[in-house]
Amino acid sequence: MSMKENIEEIRRQIGRHAEKADPSCGDVLLIAVTKTRTPEEIEEAIAFGITDIGENKVQELLDKYDQVTSKVRWHMIGHLQRNKVRQIIDKVYMIHSVDSFRLAQEIDRRAGVAGLTARILIQVNAAGEQSKFGVAPEEAQALIERILDECEHISIRGLMHMAPLVDDPEEVRHYFTEVRQLYDRLGALRHPRLDLNVLSMGMSGDFGVAIEEGANAVRIGTSIFGGRDYQ
Ligand SMILES: *Cc1c(COP(=O)(O)O)cnc(C)c1O
Repeated sequence: MSMKENIEEIRRQIGRHAEKADPSCGDVLLIAVTKTRTPEEIEEAIAFGITDIGENKVQELLDKYDQVTSKVRWHMIGHLQRNKVRQIIDKVYMIHSVDSFRLAQEIDRRAGVAGLTARILIQVNAAGEQSKFGVAPEEAQALIERILDECEHISIRGLMHMAPLVDDPEEVRHYFTEVRQLYDRLGALRHPRLDLNVLSMGMSGDFGVAIEEGANAVRIGTSIFGGRDYQ
């Protein structure tokens, strides 16, 4: 199938799964994950209606940010080292992968210098996989409260979750449920810099299940662009 057909098919599937979900979750944002893809492929995806691009490495994001001329929103979805925050702070629409107070502090400092408010998501690691970043669900609230207390140039917009890679997405449904329940509980917190409206979960292999469990942003690479040589 062509890229255009892939995107159309994904949008159909998103719509189908969203019908089974709680309507309060709202529309589902499709973020095209473009790691290893060329600027030309990104421009092509944008021409087919993609508005949001996800990259997981700072240098790759910066290179493509310079080369892609169409207007699009850039999302940092991968692990972010503190010493690289400065390079992306004024380029990304949202950082999905905040999982420590020290990283948040650096984002706050750099956002302050740049005169902006950084939108972030807290990355939650519900399965406790050693290979993945993210805070344990039970640590998320304390991290959020500390960021709200101390980081005035950060707006917390929601949670991000990456489930273990499995053949059958039903095996990881309960992780999505757990993160959704955490997201709902956090919804009771009140703070001017807490504006929870993004639940970023679901990738090519599991986005249907993630949406049924409440995701309203999905990060999809392979199903749009085909397979990659590396993760
Ligand atoms: C690569 C990646 C994705 C997309 O994965 P696909 O299986 O190719 O859809 C989503 N989120 C993150 C954080 C990624 O690194």
